[in-house]
Amino acid sequence: MINSLRGFRDILPPESTLFAAVEAAAREVFALYGYQELRIPTLEKKELYVKSTGDTTDIVEKEMYAFTDGGGREVANRPEGTPGMVRAYIEHNLGQTGRNAKFFFIGNMFRAERPQAGRYREFEQIDAEYIGNPTPAADAETISMLIKLLGKLGVEGCSVELNSLGCAECRKNYRATLLEYLRARRERLCEPCQGRIERNPLRALDCKIDGPWLSAEAPKLQLCPACAEHFSATQRLLGAAGVKYNVNPNLVRGLDYYSRTVFEVRSTMLGSQDAVAGGGRYDDLVKSMGGPAAPAIGWGLGVDRLVMLLKDKPAPDTAAKTFVIAASKEAGDKAFELMTALRAAGISSDFSSFELSLRSQMRSADKSGASFALIIGEDELKAGTAAVKPLKEPGEQVIVPLQEAPARIKALLEKK
Ligand SMILES: [Zn+2]
Ligand SMILES: [Zn+2]
Repeated sequence: MINSLRGFRDILPPESTLFAAVEAAAREVFALYGYQELRIPTLEKKELYVKSTGDTTDIVEKEMYAFTDGGGREVANRPEGTPGMVRAYIEHNLGQTGRNAKFFFIGNMFRAERPQAGRYREFEQIDAEYIGNPTPAADAETISMLIKLLGKLGVEGCSVELNSLGCAECRKNYRATLLEYLRARRERLCEPCQGRIERNPLRALDCKIDGPWLSAEAPKLQLCPACAEHFSATQRLLGAAGVKYNVNPNLVRGLDYYSRTVFEVRSTMLGSQDAVAGGGRYDDLVKSMGGPAAPAIGWGLGVDRLVMLLKDKPAPDTAAKTFVIAASKEAGDKAFELMTALRAAGISSDFSSFELSLRSQMRSADKSGASFALIIGEDELKAGTAAVKPLKEPGEQVIVPLQEAPARIKALLEKK
């Protein structure tokens, strides 16, 4: 017996129906906001993530499923969506159409994190990327779209944590100030931070060990006038869109490419500080990866965690509506035809085995969750009919001609 890998899992029904429901809701919301689907490969060149996500981030340093393939190429399973989306945007000149470049992506991601409740090494993410619009309206729209989706899914107690990381210009001075501050306290920092502050001092603010004390004590970023104006306009528009938010100066987000607006959505349903979704602006990323100067904003939503929140809600009923039963091998052929006719009429239908006893087939029908059993016994076979027996509610068994069965069932199902 070969088991699945640690941190990897099978998603069984009915949980799988919740994933499908989340994806369907996301597609509806994306259509409402003018987003189109962009599908990207699972495997990319490793350097894509090293150069975009950042070589000092936990994701790239510790969590990436990177390996050398049979042809000696350095590759990685995608740990997040944005780098691949941006690569595709540049590679296919998607900014040249003169339209808003709004793309969504739904797919699995890989990170070798320590497995824990709700965290898997392969997980599903829904990604939204809005490339080419530098204005605060894009920030407010992107965030309110996320809140709209979470509301549609019935996620309660959502709050948006909001911060601005400023532009490269604002960060230049801050970087120097912070580096000086951190150097003077080097012995207080954890070992990885001691190694990376010279390359990226901001990373220490995001460290799980050092972040908490640094956020209380370290010098704070001062926004330049343009970034301050962008941030206040974003807040004004969010307020106008009815989105509740909380400005959190300690929110840094663990990726290198963010600038200006960053955000996380937390839910009281999760009962911890963990975010359901998060994202931010990446105004310089597209250009730094060889594309046009295209400011952008996006977010990622973890579907596995979201499904964990929705588990107590009733799962959608995916059982077949009808269950077909036959009394003999000959009746079985008719029963098979009947199932074909029912499905052609759009009525879901299932069976067990026409070679089993009537009793055993009936037991399967009762367990199946179907609304009606359609039985072809010896009498029905001779008469060209089927007996229709309600399974969920008390009711009389009725005999219907086989040709009329789909229409009659349809009428019965609509009546309910
Ligand atoms: Zn600035
Ligand atoms: Zn640290």
